[in-house]
Amino acid sequence: MTPQSPPTIGVLAIQGNFAQHAQALAEAGAEADEVRKPDQRAGLDGLILPGGESTTILRFLEKLNFFDVLQDFCGDKPVFGTCAGAILLAREVRHPAQRSLGLLDAVVERNAYGRQIDSTILTAQTELPGGPLEMVFIRAPRIVETGAGVEVLARRDGFPVLVRQGSIMAATFHPELSTDRRVHRMFVETVMAATPPCEREQNQEQKQVLRLR
Ligand code: GLN
Repeated sequence: MTPQSPPTIGVLAIQGNFAQHAQALAEAGAEADEVRKPDQRAGLDGLILPGGESTTILRFLEKLNFFDVLQDFCGDKPVFGTCAGAILLAREVRHPAQRSLGLLDAVVERNAYGRQIDSTILTAQTELPGGPLEMVFIRAPRIVETGAGVEVLARRDGFPVLVRQGSIMAATFHPELSTDRRVHRMFVETVMAATPPCEREQNQEQKQVLRLR
């Protein structure tokens, strides 16, 4: 095992775009694992909460007794929420209000750009090196407020669309639906920086054992 060995990153696979995220993580140099039950968090170095329908994901999380477990896990390990996942991470959700994990110091307004018809692909400058980034928005939420600890990496019409707060990342668009892997690579690097190589090695072994069961 070297400091470069890949991290194991879970993708919450209850509903939504989880398969594309797993593929994107593999392309960005991580080992990806789909997570459907609370005990599958064991051996993960980080987690992606995908886009989909946040109300549906929330309902399943509550039914599976997964909400509190996820809140603890994501308070401790790097997490990346995209679209519905960003809604789940927010401190406050509006339009309408709903329960959230409250880990990202941001206020998010759901479906802020209209209905399904307002799904858009934009290409814009961001803080990421490497030139303009394609961003796919599908019934996207809008981040209407961010706390002082939240770094804004990209905006749409002046509102943040890609943010980072320590090892929490959130995007209101779907980076897994573009071919550009810079956003996933940034998350993989965040996970690597947050997890010492010995811990990654232990987690990798634990995951391998669990996969064999
Ligand atoms: N509109 C969805 C919600 O409110 C999010 C859409 C998405 O994840 N693409 O949960």
